[in-house]
Amino acid sequence: MSDKNVKEIEDLIKIISKLPGLGPKSAKRIVLKLIKNREELIKPLAKTLAQVYKNIVRCNNCGNLKSANSNCICLSNKYEQICVVENIADMWAIESTGIYKGQYHILGGTLPSFENQGVENGLLIDSLIKRVKKNSVKEVILATSASIEGETTSHYISDSLKDAKVQITRLAKGVPVGGEIEFLDDGTLFSAFKNRKPVANS
Ligand SMILES: [Zn+2]
Repeated sequence: MSDKNVKEIEDLIKIISKLPGLGPKSAKRIVLKLIKNREELIKPLAKTLAQVYKNIVRCNNCGNLKSANSNCICLSNKYEQICVVENIADMWAIESTGIYKGQYHILGGTLPSFENQGVENGLLIDSLIKRVKKNSVKEVILATSASIEGETTSHYISDSLKDAKVQITRLAKGVPVGGEIEFLDDGTLFSAFKNRKPVANS
């Protein structure tokens, strides 16, 4: 980067190049576009970012994003199914297939595969178990990725739900090994969801 650049611009380029899929080159293009369109882009962007920063928080119960000023829908609605995913992008991927309209539970990651097995590591697993029991949920759909970490997490959850009278299902093996839900095409994800299999819980 040239040191002729103004500090504010350099700072902005640095921040934008941290976003997924963007490197310094595309960050520079974005910054130039923004600066050319002060009123149409910078102003509403700054306002919206400030609002999101102030008002959007993660729900401690279901892991989804919610408005800081209101209750999450996970607290008010009754439901019989919960689909468990690792992150919000995975939930959006499943939503976009249109196959499932029910409640989600966003863990916020996976358990480590080997070390510290059973340590929840800040994942929302306790609250999942509480939600299942409190709502007398009938089916928990495990939609974690087909990686070692995803499988470990899914085993741990089905183990933790042994005492709850709930059917536990797992996406069908159409998901390639190591496959992250977020990056699957809609067709693969749709059929993996549709053909989900009960998890044997000994
Ligand atoms: Zn919630």
